[in-house]
Amino acid sequence: MNNEELWQSVLAQIQLNISQANFATWFKNTEIGLKKEGKIAVLVPNSFVKEWLENKYNKNILKILHSLDEEIKEVEYMVGKGKSIIPKTIPVIFPETDQLEFQEFKVDKETNLNPRYTFDSFVVGPFNELPHAAAIAVSKKPGVVYNPLFIYGGVGLGKTHLLQAIGNEIVKTFKKKKIRYVSSEKFTSEVVSSIRNQKTEIFKSKYRTIDVLIIDDVQFLAGREKTQEEFFNLFNVLYEKNKQIVISSDRPPKSIQSLAERLRSRFEGGMIADIGVPDFETRMAILKTKAQEKKVEFPEEIYQYIATIIKKNIRELEGALNRLIVYQKLNNQKPDLEIIKTLFKNLLSGPIKIITPKKIIQVVADFYDLKEKDLFLSSRKKEIVRPRQIAMYLLREELKNSFPFIGRKFNGKDHTTAIYSYKKIIKELEKDKKLEEEINLIKEQVFTN
Ligand code: ADP
Ligand code: MG
Repeated sequence: MNNEELWQSVLAQIQLNISQANFATWFKNTEIGLKKEGKIAVLVPNSFVKEWLENKYNKNILKILHSLDEEIKEVEYMVGKGKSIIPKTIPVIFPETDQLEFQEFKVDKETNLNPRYTFDSFVVGPFNELPHAAAIAVSKKPGVVYNPLFIYGGVGLGKTHLLQAIGNEIVKTFKKKKIRYVSSEKFTSEVVSSIRNQKTEIFKSKYRTIDVLIIDDVQFLAGREKTQEEFFNLFNVLYEKNKQIVISSDRPPKSIQSLAERLRSRFEGGMIADIGVPDFETRMAILKTKAQEKKVEFPEEIYQYIATIIKKNIRELEGALNRLIVYQKLNNQKPDLEIIKTLFKNLLSGPIKIITPKKIIQVVADFYDLKEKDLFLSSRKKEIVRPRQIAMYLLREELKNSFPFIGRKFNGKDHTTAIYSYKKIIKELEKDKKLEEEINLIKEQVFTN
């Protein structure tokens, strides 16, 4: 076994035992750099990953390595870049496997749409019937019925798929229409950079000539005043010209915190449809459809088992199917029900996750290598102030804790300190990509561990 194969085998085993999100966060772009006298050097992309692997995964990694090669007695992690490895030997190993499978589909530069998302590949059941019907209606008569169309629902339930299907359908039938799909984050960064580079006019004219504007995950506009203002103006211009606007969010307009009232009432002026949670039959149908798309087949009892344990997230259903495919490819045989039960045991045994303020504070402290109590000190040291602000921001953003509560939690600080911290981080996020990445990693840990 050469180093690459060795590491692939380690990754394959780890992937079966931790969540996809964790796998993506901590094992993407890692590889063996050197193997010498029982010692292995693993190259990792940055020092966060180095620390996490050392502290949280080292024991397992070593155990697996040792089981593959008895000589190996020690592992060291080094920040460094090798020849960026994308596994070739095992086709489906990365966590975003669902995306990988569809590599032949390229996002269109002009519209920003991914052709993989179509109405054809969208399974309809009672839980998404209404938004689906509205989406079909809009794609037949853009700008005429339901304007704006606002679709909301939980994570992984098909909002992006449905939004993009509308776009792709309109591209097909109305060749002349100018369509643009954009995530709210991307929209925000375009607004910010157009202001910074004094190119707001170019930005405006680019968006104001659009016939169908599709904007995804609009909850991310919360608290971004400047971006909301731009969006409000754009909305009005397009709306008055009967241009179609389609919006998605993880919650209804009234629940999006710090959304300008006028924008909220614009959203509420059209059609609002929510995607619920799929029932058992639809979960079965989705599994079977996906299996067909991926040209694999498993026995009925296996679909039933997966549809029983994964109830609330279609992306996870797909992820489970991908894990079975990975298993099959690695072992050259279909997993039987017993094996599947062990493959998914961490999905089952884990208690229902309840995120608490304590959990957030713990993860933030851990992430920045502080003790929890450090975050409660009245220190003005930069190394403490920033993590504390991030913790406060997350309590507000993720748990919707009140500012007085957050203040009290941090050793009886005033609520104005909590408000200041929250706003400060939102502001920083608009220009600091690295901070955004850090916060995403923290969230990942909060929600997956
Ligand atoms: P959201 O945007 O709501 O988080 P996505 O649209 O990204 O969710 O959906 C997650 C995954 O599940 C995607 O791969 C998508 O194709 C798939 N999916 C969601 N809903 C359906 C559905 N009704 N039929 C088939 N696939 C679906
Ligand atoms: Mg989405």
